[in-house]
Amino acid sequence: MVNSIFRDPPSLIAYSVVLFMFNWKLTLIIFLLAPVSALILSKIGNSLKRSSTKSQEKISDITSTLDETLGAIRVVKAFGMEDYEKKKFEKENDNYFNLLVRLTRKRALGSPISEFIGVITIVIILYFFGAEIIQGNSNMTPGAFIFYLAIFFQMMPSLKLFGQMFNSYKEGTAAAERVFGLLDTKASIVDSPNAIELKEFRSSIEFRDASFKYYKSDYILKDINLKIDKGNIIAIVGPSGAGKSTLVDLIPRFYDLTEGNLFFDGKNIKDLKIESLRRLMGIVTQETILFNDTIRNNIAYGESDISIEQITEASKAANAHKFISLIEKGYDTIIGDRGVKLSGGERQRLSIARALLKNPPILILDEATSSLDTESEILVQQAIERLMHGRTSIVIAHRLSTIQNADMIVVLEKGKIVETGTHQQLLHTRGLYKKLYDLQFRHQESIV
Ligand code: ATP
Repeated sequence: MVNSIFRDPPSLIAYSVVLFMFNWKLTLIIFLLAPVSALILSKIGNSLKRSSTKSQEKISDITSTLDETLGAIRVVKAFGMEDYEKKKFEKENDNYFNLLVRLTRKRALGSPISEFIGVITIVIILYFFGAEIIQGNSNMTPGAFIFYLAIFFQMMPSLKLFGQMFNSYKEGTAAAERVFGLLDTKASIVDSPNAIELKEFRSSIEFRDASFKYYKSDYILKDINLKIDKGNIIAIVGPSGAGKSTLVDLIPRFYDLTEGNLFFDGKNIKDLKIESLRRLMGIVTQETILFNDTIRNNIAYGESDISIEQITEASKAANAHKFISLIEKGYDTIIGDRGVKLSGGERQRLSIARALLKNPPILILDEATSSLDTESEILVQQAIERLMHGRTSIVIAHRLSTIQNADMIVVLEKGKIVETGTHQQLLHTRGLYKKLYDLQFRHQESIV
């Protein structure tokens, strides 16, 4: 009702003038009833507004949870936290659903009430004036009275309200169909029926004649043959878009190979239980994803009964303890969009602490490219060296110290391995590695 008054004032004024001209007494009575109905409707409106605000806040919570979780999907999967994240999401979703039911109930109430007021008004008109006209006591003819009623009906905004409600209902069902369609999408990477548990990592990871393309893409990796022995550090280097991230994403089986095979201790990755495979891996990515939670929970992510001593120990090894202690609430500080913002180097060190705590035998590390100041760089570098110690590490390397320490450097170009060897060997070869070294790594010599 209020809406239409603002939307079409000219027609409303015109209708009112006509009504007054026809019968000013009757119109005055109707106009006096208007504030009463407006009051009732505004009460419903206010309560509707409160519920609507709450529901908007809730949807923003859900979006931020989703955003965090999807942005951190590698971390979620690597820590085997899919069920935990699903429950977190379901809880948020349930709350939202309940709010939405309340909101819809109020919205639905708005229309019958305004209809009811409309009907009461018509009853009054018919009762007092209809009788007068039939008895011939009024100066209004029956035809004019019908015309009067017709104009009055034109002003009934509840019809519009009905239309709006029908539209929202339609919008809602369309959106729901899309959401349910998405929810019904099956994950393409699942355990095979007789998948076996990989209890430990004993000897090697091996790509054999492996090729890969994304859905509808060209080949991103072609004929990869690579053996990674236990305990070694493998540095992967190559120009942007060469396929480095894609190659390391195949190891936790985020994607399946298009052709060829990938073996863990001689067993085909497709025959292994995905959860058992990922339990053996720690993944520290460029995005250094952290959740909107306390520092403590961010480090302990995936481990429920972990003591503060263990968290402190991991943080010390990751060079993070000092800066955490300097924040007012220490390990209980909330980070992320609702709490303290951390610098790039601090975030990296927290995700290193998280990986140290998980203590996996295999480490997949995508070294950050973001430039840190020298002090922060040294702290991160030390933390990474501690993290790699005693593990099989596959590193997308951006640090000179990492490639110098690597047992093998794999040089990728356009999806193919073009060179392998140690730093010294490859410098002598004077191939692509030498060029990359001159371009990317040499300038870091001052801080190593
Ligand atoms: P950078 O050093 O810039 O991170 P990279 O060597 O890690 O690059 P990848 O991220 O593996 O390279 O990407 C290799 C190619 O695959 C790129 O051409 C990229 O556009 C493409 N690619 C990456 N992810 C997808 C995807 N999900 N779907 C389709 N193509 C993709």
